[in-house]
Amino acid sequence: MPRCAGTKRDGGRCAAIVNGSYCYQHDPARAGERSRNASKAARSRPSRELANIKQRLSELADDVLEGRQDKGVAAVASQVLNVCLRAVSVELKAREQLELIERLEALEEGLEAKSGAGRRGA
Ligand SMILES: [Zn+2]
Repeated sequence: MPRCAGTKRDGGRCAAIVNGSYCYQHDPARAGERSRNASKAARSRPSRELANIKQRLSELADDVLEGRQDKGVAAVASQVLNVCLRAVSVELKAREQLELIERLEALEEGLEAKSGAGRRGA
């Protein structure tokens, strides 16, 4: 079985079994595709919103600690931001599950196509 020619982060040889020379993680020709996929996840609306809410909570905390904001106002604002945080987290989870379901269905279709071809061939 051919192994991936890539190097792991710890300097060791990648152990992935491959058809060509590299696994998906190490194929230089697919570096663009990998970073597109990674940044797609980072750019998604819920994860941007999460980052935004975290930023506002942190600013709110600084404002209270440095006396720029009233404690009571900050307490109410942080409650509202917490509700937003929960809503966005739920949305993010739902999206992730949808993506997983789509990927599973694609895998299942691939498997069914393969086993169907096998039966016809036999
Ligand atoms: Zn590899």
